[in-house]
Amino acid sequence: MTTVNLRSDLESLPAYKPGRAPVHDGQVLHKLSSNENPFPPLESVQTAIGATIGEVNRYPQMAAHELAAAISAKFDIDPESIALGSGSVEIISQLIRAVAGPGDEVIYAWRSFEAYPLLTVAAGARGVGVDLDSDYRHNLPAMAAAVTDRTRLILVCNPNNPTGTTIARRELEEFLESVPRSVAVVIDEAYVHFDRDPESPDGVDFFRRHPNVIVAHTFSKAYGLAGLRVGYAIAPPKIATALRKVALPFGVTTLAQVAARASLMAEKELQTRVDTLINERLRVASALRSLGIAVPDSQANFFWFPFGKDTNDSVKTFEKHGVLSRAFPEDGFRVSIGDKVANDAIIAAATELSTL
Ligand SMILES: *Cc1c(COP(=O)(O)O)cnc(C)c1O
Repeated sequence: MTTVNLRSDLESLPAYKPGRAPVHDGQVLHKLSSNENPFPPLESVQTAIGATIGEVNRYPQMAAHELAAAISAKFDIDPESIALGSGSVEIISQLIRAVAGPGDEVIYAWRSFEAYPLLTVAAGARGVGVDLDSDYRHNLPAMAAAVTDRTRLILVCNPNNPTGTTIARRELEEFLESVPRSVAVVIDEAYVHFDRDPESPDGVDFFRRHPNVIVAHTFSKAYGLAGLRVGYAIAPPKIATALRKVALPFGVTTLAQVAARASLMAEKELQTRVDTLINERLRVASALRSLGIAVPDSQANFFWFPFGKDTNDSVKTFEKHGVLSRAFPEDGFRVSIGDKVANDAIIAAATELSTL
């Protein structure tokens, strides 16, 4: 037993549980639990990574200026407004630590991304989860009403993980009208490439028009670089500067920087893969609908099964069909869209569920 005094507020956090290996009773499971891109990196991206391997005895560029320049060119934004992180999880962590401390409040929808409460408590701040509405969407008026004089930051996840639902431009506009300008509003667009809802807000457009809006993007999902860890914020320069101050030094590796730049240059090819995944999402959605299984409309690369007390049994049925999903006991489970074979297994598992 250690004799070291740990922070007592950490006791409220669950300890990290390693994910189950994707093998079950000798059967290879489809790992559909982390919303990963099922496609390996493009040839051009693999080549760029390979060409850089011989340089990893050196530290990475601290400011990742070439990658920041490529991102700023893509959006036509001042490079000063780009801050990089080791995945957008680190970006969100930087944001919370840059604006909130002990006693301060961070508001997010619930259920939303599991990392939000963890990162909030790790920063010493207090998380305020605001229930989703009955359609599993952000309840933006309720989130605005939850603002107090201790609120420092609000996280808006669009599309929302794990429900796949989106908010509308007009709703976000009204929300920003009612939130004090001193409160940071983060639009987490981890799944933006999968969003085909014409009503959805374009986070970058909101960033251009609102001085308290920050957009978080990642290379982990549509770009398929989850294992390399790179994401970025688009933020007003003063905030981006603060993010660089609290960032993990050298948190974005050379390989991650190079792979992200190569991915930005191959955006057309990547979008073709995203289109394939969206078509698979539509195929699975219509199969679920014809089975009478009610899942919320998803604009992301996953589906939310809000099965409450039936969650554990349903997850077992999916495992029987080789599908590893992400379960939130007593609430629901999330299944990512994979390749065609994996998605056929989703449909087979759902078919069994519908006949139980
Ligand atoms: C996956 C995900 C992220 C980003 O993860 P990183 O791999 O750290 O870039 C951010 N927000 C949400 C909601 C996500 O689901």
